[in-house]
Amino acid sequence: MSDCISCSNAKANLTCVLCAGALCKTCAHFTDELTFNFAVQQPAAGTYCPACFDREIAPEIARYEDVLARAKDVNVFYRTQGKESRFIRRIEKPLKVEECDDKDETVLRLAFLAALSGFNALVDVDLDSRKVIHGKWQTSKWRGTGVPARVDEEQLKRRFAGSPN
Ligand SMILES: [Zn+2]
Ligand SMILES: [Zn+2]
Repeated sequence: MSDCISCSNAKANLTCVLCAGALCKTCAHFTDELTFNFAVQQPAAGTYCPACFDREIAPEIARYEDVLARAKDVNVFYRTQGKESRFIRRIEKPLKVEECDDKDETVLRLAFLAALSGFNALVDVDLDSRKVIHGKWQTSKWRGTGVPARVDEEQLKRRFAGSPN
């Protein structure tokens, strides 16, 4: 067994997926699906040495977290809010997500896709769920569509400043 390439610990029984360097358990970074659970493309799950992790994975995590933060700020207008959103131009094709576990996840996934392409609004959002039976259990699967758009945040604030909602 080789020594850990990061701390020289002799108990290096793990291997970096990128540089194939030997790693001890303390120095190894592990990536799993949960880290990027809204991402369109998952980085390969695996074990990384600190140097490869900092170079390849850390910037991806920072980028992902930035998109997720922007997704949470996306202005969402449901299909029933046509009156409120009528000033927003619909130019883009609708986004679509499927197989979501609940309503909130469906909206966040749509917002994530919008934020990923630089949009800050979703209009005509339409959600729909269906029952799925697993033996004795019954759950719901959600899907949704929405048109990504850009709105001027200041204009939006002024527009809704006088309205009760
Ligand atoms: Zn180590
Ligand atoms: Zn490495």
